[in-house]
Amino acid sequence: MEFETLCVHGDEKAYEPTGALSMPIYQSATFSHPGLGVSSGYDYSRLQNPTREHAENLLCKLEGGVDALAFSSGMAAIAALMELFSPGEHFIFSDDIYGGSYRLFSSINRKNGLKSNSVNTSDFEAVAAAIRPNTKAIFVETPTNPMMQVSDIARIATLCKQKGLLLIVDNTFLTPYFQRPLEIGASIVVHSATKYLGGHNDTLAGFLVAGSAELSEKLRFIFKTTGAGLAPFDSWLIARGIKTLAVRMDRQQESALRLAGWMRGQRKIRAVHYVGLPEHPGYAISKKQASGFGAMISFELDSQESAKRVLESVRLIRFAESLGGVESLVTYPYLQTHADIPVETRKAKGIGDTLLRLSVGLESANDLITDLDAALNG
Ligand SMILES: *Cc1c(COP(=O)(O)O)cnc(C)c1O
Repeated sequence: MEFETLCVHGDEKAYEPTGALSMPIYQSATFSHPGLGVSSGYDYSRLQNPTREHAENLLCKLEGGVDALAFSSGMAAIAALMELFSPGEHFIFSDDIYGGSYRLFSSINRKNGLKSNSVNTSDFEAVAAAIRPNTKAIFVETPTNPMMQVSDIARIATLCKQKGLLLIVDNTFLTPYFQRPLEIGASIVVHSATKYLGGHNDTLAGFLVAGSAELSEKLRFIFKTTGAGLAPFDSWLIARGIKTLAVRMDRQQESALRLAGWMRGQRKIRAVHYVGLPEHPGYAISKKQASGFGAMISFELDSQESAKRVLESVRLIRFAESLGGVESLVTYPYLQTHADIPVETRKAKGIGDTLLRLSVGLESANDLITDLDAALNG
């Protein structure tokens, strides 16, 4: 079956005796046992819940994984993932990463004795040079947030295999519709399902997708022990979102391409960072490892005043954090998502006070351009 079909029918285990087409919301904390030592397969919702399993089975199929685990947020998923590591162990992460991941790695993880350091993972030599004797994993976000750097997943995966390291890929921006890291050698895929998978700016959720039975077993143990599983209703919303993933991604990407092209011709826009523009440094690798470029654009204005004006003058596009939903959102990474990153690091990466990040939604591209044009030039 092809991807679009799997979005709708990918959970082969979904079986409803009533014939209901929509998986019911099993709003039950616990499940009764048919007999001593006998289980219906469900005992307690922290461990398993049929509605959560439905969402997990769908995403697992789409990513081509062995198991998917649904968490209450993307950060809950990443925090649980960190329980794979012990004090003194080291991992490498992309230096232009989601601000919340950076905060976790540099505060709570560090307090717990995990060592980590960041490198530009789009620079393969830098990745190879950062490996230490105690390195256990490489955590890559690609494209990165917000500078849209692209890392060569297959090449880093080969290095990880040689060195016995886990390769973890945060696939939030492209989703399995455009990029399936497990198929090209990654060990674990991470998602903030709050973004494209849910797709409607209405639900927080996260996933870990394991590429092997061994990792699935370890992650399931952490999952049931630490207890940040996704609630039944939220699981239902995520499963519903996934059903339209393919069409949403296609349309959002189409509009993003148009907007990026329009931005290139604007006097007050100094630079446009969109992976789908041929001049983008990650364009060629993207073509090789992904079937699309997504719908996230960062752009630099001629001044902080212009940036402020756009944020405060857009009407259709909303000035709000998050991304990937049907509503287009614009953010100011410098003071929002990336505020916890040291100012020198932000500056070095180009995350300055004139940079805006746009998540292109499902409105008409013409209306979005009209809105931006008025905010920028009006
Ligand atoms: C939003 C986001 C996260 C964190 O997910 P939440 O659902 O907000 O906890 C992690 N990685 C990326 C790339 C994100 O965009």
